Order: sequence, then C-alpha cells, then structure tokens
Amino acid sequence: MASTPLKRPYLDHYPDASGYYGPFGGNHYPPSLRPHLDALTEAYNSLRHDPNFISTLHEVRKTLQGRPTPLHYLANTSAQVKGAQIYAKREDLNHTGAHKINHCVGFALLALHIHKSKLIAETGAGQHGVALATAAAYFGLECEVHMGAIDVQKQASNVGRMRLLGAKVVAAGAKEDRADGAGNLKDASDSAFQAYTAQAETSLYAIGSAIGPHPFPWLVREFQATVGVEAREQFLDMSGGVLPDHVVACVAGGSNALGMFTAFVDDEDVTLHAVEPLGTSSNAGQHAATLSFGRPGTLHGAQSIVIQNEDDSPAPVRSIASGLVYPGVGPEIAHLHHAGRIKVATITDDEVINTFFRMAKQEGIIVALESAHALAYAIKLAKERPSTEKILVNLSGRGDKDVDYVLEKYGDRLGR
Ligand SMILES: *Cc1c(COP(=O)(O)O)cnc(C)c1O
Repeated sequence: MASTPLKRPYLDHYPDASGYYGPFGGNHYPPSLRPHLDALTEAYNSLRHDPNFISTLHEVRKTLQGRPTPLHYLANTSAQVKGAQIYAKREDLNHTGAHKINHCVGFALLALHIHKSKLIAETGAGQHGVALATAAAYFGLECEVHMGAIDVQKQASNVGRMRLLGAKVVAAGAKEDRADGAGNLKDASDSAFQAYTAQAETSLYAIGSAIGPHPFPWLVREFQATVGVEAREQFLDMSGGVLPDHVVACVAGGSNALGMFTAFVDDEDVTLHAVEPLGTSSNAGQHAATLSFGRPGTLHGAQSIVIQNEDDSPAPVRSIASGLVYPGVGPEIAHLHHAGRIKVATITDDEVINTFFRMAKQEGIIVALESAHALAYAIKLAKERPSTEKILVNLSGRGDKDVDYVLEKYGDRLGR
C-alpha cells in the first residue's frame, strides 16, 4: 500500500465520514449492528459540542478520577542518563490506576445521554473491567463484563473488585473443552460482542481500547485526548514554552498512545514513538509487536495491521505485560505508522523488568509492566540524545497489580 501525506489539521480529517483513517478502519461487522453503530456516531457528533455533556465530563474527571494528572520530571533518571531530559505524564495516578478510566467515564456518560441502561465490555486481566465497573457504579448504570474463564480464575482479585462495584462478570470459553489455553481475551471479546448484538437496544459496548468498528476507535481517541491536551499545556509551562522533541507511549490497541499523540500530531518537529512488546524474542509466538511483524488484515471489525498465521487467522502472541497481549493495533495507529508519522521501537521482557526495578528504586514509582515498555525505550532514547532535548513519556498505569508476579519470578534482581 502506498502512503499519502497526512491532511491538516489532522483531527478534522481523520476518521473520514465512513470511519476510515487512510486505508485502515471502517465497519466490518454484521450489517444487523450497523444502525446501532450509525446512531452512536450521530449521537456523539451532537453531544461533543453540548455544554452540559462537556461540563459533566470535566467535573467527573476532576472529582472522581483526580484529573489533571501531574507531569513529572524524572530528575534522578535524567541525571543518571546524562542525555535528553525525561518527563512522565502520570496516568498511573488516575482513580483505578491507569488511563483506561478516561474512556470508561466517557462511555458511561454517553450511555446516560442516549438512554442506554447498561455497559457491556470484554476484559483481559480485568483492568478495563474494573475501570468500567467504577464508571458504571458512579453513573448508576448496569455493567456486564465478559472475561475468559481462565482469566476469571487467574485474576480473582479483579473479579472480586468488579463484583463489589456491582458488575456482573461473565466467564467466557469454558476451559474443559479447550486444550489451547483459550478462555482468554479472544473468547471474552467474542462473548461480549454477542451479548451486545443481542442487547444493542438497551446497551452500549464500552470497548477496551481504540479498536473495533467505527465509531469505537474514534470515541476512545476522543475521550483519551484529555491526556495529551493536559500534558501539552503542562509541558509548555514547565519548559518555558518549548515543545518536547520526542513523545513516547506503549501500544497494544493504541488508546494511551493516541491520547497522548493527538495533541502533537500536527507538530512536525515532535517525533512520536510507539513502543511494542518484543517479549522473549522476535520469533513467531514470542512477542506481540504488531507494527513490527504484522501485515494488513481485518480484526474485530476493522481493517488494520494484524499478526497472522498463513491462513490469515490471528496468530498467538505474548508479552510479560498482559495489557499488551493483542495480535492487532487500532486502525488509527496503523494509519499513523503507514503515513510515516510514528516511529516504532521494541522492548524485550528483560528490559521491562530492569526498568520496573529502576523506576521503583530511583524514582519512587511502581509502574505497570505495560508502561515500563515506554519508559525503557525513553531511557534508551535519552542516552542517544543530547541534554538539550526533551522526551515526554506516557506513564499509562501503576504496577501494584504486577508486584507479586515480578517479585516471585525476578526477586533475585533486587540485590542485597
Ligand atoms: C491496557 C493498558 C495498556 C495498553 O492498551 P492501549 O489501548 O494500547 O493503551 C497500556 N498500559 C496500561 C497500564 C494498560 O492498562
């Protein structure tokens, strides 16, 4: 596929009226859902300019979530690296511990305005499910979270949290009849999507990332954009009016990356870096680095880049960070990469673990393993760049969820 230059201002042109970002995106789901998705697009198009909708969203972000989240200069790490200066946008300080609540709150408010009484979603390790159940509780909506049967067993504390928050947790993919380690995110997505198809009159699908058919990737980007808007303003304040030279984020579907990138996409001097999980190696099945190793295909109702088997089915992927285990990327990330606007880097599990320990000891921040990918790359980049340059990283979530696992498996790296 030949790439074409991006139109400006970027946000006015993408997605187009059919939900495409260049050659990616669109609506490749069963036609029976089309009227519901079209109605959702229309509803949001009017609500996004509604002062009541905007002010309620602002208020909830401030009071429930704790926004604006801080911009934090990583002084100790920057001093040790002696290269470019590193700044982190602290999305880990959101209520529930990650950026995901930004779009969960948006979806909940949207549901309320379009008279839907229930939010339905899939979740992998349960982080998205907990954020969504929180937003549903706050707005008095029902919540139904579909989770792979194996994940339900592995992530008992997140299942407990969701139930406490009033959500119904549906286990998908009974493990007895599966020998392939299924009962994971794929089964959860299929099951949640089926439930939505059956209940679309009364429910809203609150997807976990900037993925799926139009308008979901666009809605998620819209609600996540607050991250970049805040960070840009905070950065200009702290730096005396200079923009960062580099903006870095980890990518699975692309919600935290787009939240940050969209505020800088028209600034040609700002280099955008998407960091993908290289897992244990670049061999098939050992990583989840979609932009690096995938090819064009259709996944979850959208045309995008997908890691595929020879028969075009999605291939198995892995990463130490469960939130990055996804064989695709959202269509907008595929588009920005295809257009040459974002650079791609990869980080291994091993580098992630070292960064996890380093951030804790050196900065006093226990970061999510997902976010450690972005930080590991930011540190690498800082070493190569002069101290006059500045790097802004999206620290997408906190790592409390990862502490037990890391200490059990890598505790010997703690030193004495
Ligand atoms: C889910 C998650 C991610 C990855 O998802 P994106 O949609 O690509 O942002 C990254 N970091 C954290 C902390 C997450 O929970």
